[in-house]
Amino acid sequence: MMQPEQILKDKFGFSEFRYDQKQIIDTVLNRKDAFVLMPTGGGKSLCYQLPALLMPGLAVVISPLIALMKDQVDAARELGVEAEYLNSSLSRDEYRGVLVKLKRGQVRLLYISPERFALDGFSQSLLDLSISYVAIDEAHCISEWGHDFRPDYLNLSLITEKLHAVPVVAFTATATIRVQGDIVSRLKLRDPLFVRASFDRKNLYYRVERKSDVLDQVLKAVQQRQDESGIIYRTTRKAVEETAVFLAGHSIPALPYHAGLSDELRRDNQDKFKKDEVRVIVATIAFGMGIDKSNIRYIVHGDLPRSLDAYYQETGRAGRDGDPATCLLLFSRGDSGKISYFINQVEDEAERKRGYAQLSRMISYATVNVCRRKQILNYFGEEYPRENCAGCDLCSGEVRKTEATRSAQMILSAVARTGEHFGAGHIVDIVQGADTKKIRGFRHHLLKTYGVGREQSKSYWRSLVDDLIHQGCLQRTEGKYPLLKISERGTRILLGEEEFIVIEHVQNRKARLRSEDLPVDEPLFEKLKSIRLACARKRNIPAYMVFSDRTLREMCRVLPLDESSLLGITGVGERKLSQYGSSFLKAIAGHIEAVEPDA
Ligand code: ADP
Ligand code: ZN
Repeated sequence: MMQPEQILKDKFGFSEFRYDQKQIIDTVLNRKDAFVLMPTGGGKSLCYQLPALLMPGLAVVISPLIALMKDQVDAARELGVEAEYLNSSLSRDEYRGVLVKLKRGQVRLLYISPERFALDGFSQSLLDLSISYVAIDEAHCISEWGHDFRPDYLNLSLITEKLHAVPVVAFTATATIRVQGDIVSRLKLRDPLFVRASFDRKNLYYRVERKSDVLDQVLKAVQQRQDESGIIYRTTRKAVEETAVFLAGHSIPALPYHAGLSDELRRDNQDKFKKDEVRVIVATIAFGMGIDKSNIRYIVHGDLPRSLDAYYQETGRAGRDGDPATCLLLFSRGDSGKISYFINQVEDEAERKRGYAQLSRMISYATVNVCRRKQILNYFGEEYPRENCAGCDLCSGEVRKTEATRSAQMILSAVARTGEHFGAGHIVDIVQGADTKKIRGFRHHLLKTYGVGREQSKSYWRSLVDDLIHQGCLQRTEGKYPLLKISERGTRILLGEEEFIVIEHVQNRKARLRSEDLPVDEPLFEKLKSIRLACARKRNIPAYMVFSDRTLREMCRVLPLDESSLLGITGVGERKLSQYGSSFLKAIAGHIEAVEPDA
């Protein structure tokens, strides 16, 4: 039998396995179950495509993302795998056509939606087909504890009994511990291999800017990356429309995407984005679940997301090809106020608490002097081992860090001297020396700290209090009129045993990930991109399915002149070599001749 490494090289054109891909594939080949938690872009699809090429019989992939199935089948066919799909989008004839192929054993990889799978007798008829293994994508949909529960998935709980000797592998990119357990027990996985890949997306650069003029800031961010694909996320439909119009007014074609548009228009806009006909899409979070475009180079959040989880998922759509991409968050405290307002309307108390806790972590991400990557990974229960990640604005020195211990002491002292009985507004009034009825009533103008902070603005003190809260120096009590209490860390700062650092967001500095961001020969890169587009048009598939940006960039660096060196490029396998190799080799050779100095 051929080795997985050989297939990886020959068919997929990759030189080595990522993370735990090898272990997962070996488990399938050994006919055992597995549970795989891997971040978006981690390389799950390879894990369930590759064994199909090695094992006799039919590999079945169950996925709820009907909109993506055709793409995935196209992509698999590009690799030379005989793939088909069955879902409600097929006509009767198409459906029957696939069934015939299945019976004749002409299919190696079958994508199918959970409701089709559950259809009466379907899994029974699969039994006659000798199935090699079943992969369940987006497996968290089976859990009511997850954020994306789909009742259809419950039908899969009998799968291991029905197909008793067939290995089952569950894949997901998002699952809390509770959901993980739920997946394993509902699917009745049998002593599964447990793989939990790191959630670190090494090629993503995280940065935060203070939001001042959001449209202008979005425009600048887009202008820095003119020829690249990006998503701008806004919270409301109105903001989406406004931003798209604003960009268009500055000669940047941008399409809107939100739940208020017709299905057709949405599909159309998404399609244009996918095919690189338009570079920028402005969207609410309605956009994303179905987007599987690998060359998204930047994500801008014009408004604050509600949770770090949401932020991670949304930024996770960038850089799936492994090339550097930037995630910019425009942060304003006003946004957190708006979100709080909505959380406050939630009836259920537990849910409301959860909402506040989520929001608080999101604000910390934007304000606290701790590596952004570290914070994200901590959120997912992962310890980031290094001091400096070199991939966020804090670690790469893009942000000014200012010591503000004295100011912090003024606030903490005012809280202490008033017996921890007051809220943020009143404490700021004391430090600022405001003349209010409440101050006179409580005779707080007689306090030692009264007016010690006159020089600074009210908003300075307000945001300092927020910083103290988010850095865990002050705690806010629950309830309608939250009071400030001093934590242990706050006490240490008050006593001068520890210093207090605030970070200032420096605006509009160009920042990117450095490591992989090697310069390439731009004219050649452009030329290769246009060839790619032509190949893609001819086959009516998105450009990145021909080759990723990363592959093209590597070609520009390595300048392969024959087939064997072209095969050495990441992302070029035998199939793609025979399909497209000659056009690219010709272009590279032509380019070298044109720039070679005369002898
Ligand atoms: P997921 O399904 O986990 O979101 P994908 O399977 O779409 O991720 O993979 C993301 C990208 O990584 C794709 O462009 C894929 O070709 C690439 N990739 C996967 N495995 C490898 C590997 N071993 N070496 C290099 N690139 C890989
Ligand atoms: Zn960092």
